[in-house]
Amino acid sequence: MVLKRVPVRKIGVIERYQEFLPVSEKTPIISLNEGNTPLILAEALPAELGLKNVRIYFKFEGLNPTGSFKDRGMTMAVSKALEEGAKAIICASTGNTAASAAAFASRCGLKCVVLIPEGKIAKGKLLQAYRYGAKVVTIKGNFDQALTVVKEAGAKYPIKIVNSINPFRIEGQKTAAFEICDDLGDAPEYHAIPVGNAGNITAYWRGYKEYKKANKSETLPVMLGFQAAGSAPIVLNHVVEKPETIATAIRIGNPASWKGALEARDESGGLIDSVTDEEITWAYKFIAEREGVFAEPASAAAVAGVKKLAKKNYFKEGARIVCTLTGSGLKDPDFALSFDDKIVLVEPTVDAVMKVVNG
Ligand SMILES: *Cc1c(COP(=O)(O)O)cnc(C)c1O
Repeated sequence: MVLKRVPVRKIGVIERYQEFLPVSEKTPIISLNEGNTPLILAEALPAELGLKNVRIYFKFEGLNPTGSFKDRGMTMAVSKALEEGAKAIICASTGNTAASAAAFASRCGLKCVVLIPEGKIAKGKLLQAYRYGAKVVTIKGNFDQALTVVKEAGAKYPIKIVNSINPFRIEGQKTAAFEICDDLGDAPEYHAIPVGNAGNITAYWRGYKEYKKANKSETLPVMLGFQAAGSAPIVLNHVVEKPETIATAIRIGNPASWKGALEARDESGGLIDSVTDEEITWAYKFIAEREGVFAEPASAAAVAGVKKLAKKNYFKEGARIVCTLTGSGLKDPDFALSFDDKIVLVEPTVDAVMKVVNG
């Protein structure tokens, strides 16, 4: 068989789903061809979790242009900022929002300011913000404090906030739910997702509901959100002053979209639970080593959560579970290299190499 090469014009989420988005002919579309990410069927995970006759899919958002799902919301936020005549944008970020904002701003000549919490930021994300040309400011404080500063700056100065409190972010992010329905032919029975500021779980739920209302899908999924145990304000039902977790993208103590997360949970008959750093690390390694999918630690929280629920026989027979893998594993090289993998240096001979391989 000869495979024919067909030229494909890849388009971004605004063009693809414009009828569901608050855009018009006047909106300048700033796109990096974000979205259209693959839904990858897990091969080894169901058996590992003792799940029979259940399919697990990874919605791999690490394959977006800047390596995380943030690009879906940012194409909207930046396009609308430009439409409204903004000259500058600002965000607080644990990293991925900064990387994405910086990239989209660079594409249309907007000035971009990013506030980063001191210390706990993955290197890959930081270097992206710098290289895309953002003004990077590190503050002595955590994410929640950085967001407070951003809100004040947005109120005082002519600078557009592109954190997920910007409603266009959530609008853009809901397109991931549309893509999943388009790929599966309907919504899955369960959707598992990490929860930090809770913008994404809010966006997916909105997307699933809107698609059903438009008769593009027939069912709604049960929404399963997972926070890191050291940063689980929604699970604990109170603000966490000093959130801690290796999954820096969800190291959030006071989620901006708290209410949206509760709505997604309650309207869908789902739950929001926590997973430990140990469970997250297990999932992070498993999907890389056994599924060939390298996602960042925060993304692995969704898989860790599915494992936790599988142990309790939570899932019904025949179900499809989609896990959103929110960002690329390449984002956090320090964590990736924090295990006991050793660099082995040997003489350039087959004997020397085989000794290591067999040893
Ligand atoms: C932003 C982010 C999250 C958390 O998403 P929220 O919308 O804040 O809940 C999870 N994982 C990654 C990789 C992220 O960048």
